[in-house]
Amino acid sequence: MLSFYQARDLIVDSVRPLAVEKVSLLDAAGRATAEDIVANQPLPLFDNSAMDGYAVRAEDCVSGKTLSVQGYIPAGGKLNCKVEPGTAVKIMTGAPIPPGADAIVPFEETEESPDRVTILGKVKQGDHIRWKAEDIKPGDRIIDKGTVLRPAEISLLASFGMSMINVHRRVRVAILSTGDELQELDEQPIEGGIINSNSWALAAAIREIGAEPLMLGIARDNRESLLQKIGDGLQADVLITSAGVSAGDRDYVREVLEELGVEQKFWKINIKPGKPTAFGMRGTNPVFSLPGNPVSTMITFEEFVRPALLKMMGHRTLFKPLFKAKLQEPVKKKYDRLQLMRVAVELNESGEMVIASSGDQNTGILRTMIYAQGIALLAPDRDHYAAGDSLDVHLLGAATALGY
Ligand code: AMP
Ligand code: MG
Repeated sequence: MLSFYQARDLIVDSVRPLAVEKVSLLDAAGRATAEDIVANQPLPLFDNSAMDGYAVRAEDCVSGKTLSVQGYIPAGGKLNCKVEPGTAVKIMTGAPIPPGADAIVPFEETEESPDRVTILGKVKQGDHIRWKAEDIKPGDRIIDKGTVLRPAEISLLASFGMSMINVHRRVRVAILSTGDELQELDEQPIEGGIINSNSWALAAAIREIGAEPLMLGIARDNRESLLQKIGDGLQADVLITSAGVSAGDRDYVREVLEELGVEQKFWKINIKPGKPTAFGMRGTNPVFSLPGNPVSTMITFEEFVRPALLKMMGHRTLFKPLFKAKLQEPVKKKYDRLQLMRVAVELNESGEMVIASSGDQNTGILRTMIYAQGIALLAPDRDHYAAGDSLDVHLLGAATALGY
């Protein structure tokens, strides 16, 4: 059986980034750039004032000195005056520095009278001036290919006047739930019926990373129904099925996938929960068959599907970084399996990240998923951990500051 890491690597190595498209800056937020972004102009574009105040020659400005005010430059104003010895020009934040000036004195450090200004404090050359190109020089590579565009990156692209950005197309992901017992949310409940929640959980997780879910509904546990729905799902970039992949007597999903030309790459991973996960490829399109228990479905999506979808959308960072966090109470586990434990994550009084099981780890227990902020990875070669042991944990939910 494949290990957690073998399965993840095999999946990620099997997929490629989708085609590139140009989108407007507004639509680029949250997506990954398909190219390195190189500065096409300096930032700032010109020397300008960082404060509202007076442009002066620093050498004129001994404390108590009065200068005559020879002009005024608002932000966006033209340079129609200069600073001669013994004079000052009134200037607003963002306005270009007039010739002759080498410092700005903020209003707060002056006393103003009509046409004159008295300097109260000390003034050094360069005070409160933002120099041309001090932030970014033309030709600097500022954003690496595959970086998620946060508001900060969008701000930079806007500053360069780049209104259209190359990104990889959003991946379209078909979601198919399977099972004779399943019912849709708004159906009249039947005896033994189970409401299909997996499609909704998967759709939410897909949306969270900027991909596009396609709801295929429910296929029944028979070949005809599966053939039809899976056939539809194979039209998308990615197909995710849930349930029908354990060793139950009506678990036909893998059989039908094979019949429709999906080459199975593996079935079963040495993890808990999520062991019966299957993965296959049809041409360049990946097909994930996730186990049906809602907790297993969500966790296997998080660990195996999400990185693949991110790669298809051109992201550079596919896996969430693992933090070290101290366990607050002992845990027992099954020896020889990697366990993906749902954990409550907190900061202790010293500001360190600490974790504890978020509750019953049975895959039937959804509540424990609700109370979890992270997933801790418990090593296969352990059967217990003690309180105070340090574990690898990653957070649940979207975050882009670390590039994922
Ligand atoms: P299976 O993998 O088909 O044995 O399903 C495992 C468990 O997950 C069963 O209790 C199913 O009723 C449940 N299950 C399967 N699919 C869904 C779904 N779409 N929504 C909620 N529960 C499901
Ligand atoms: Mg079933």
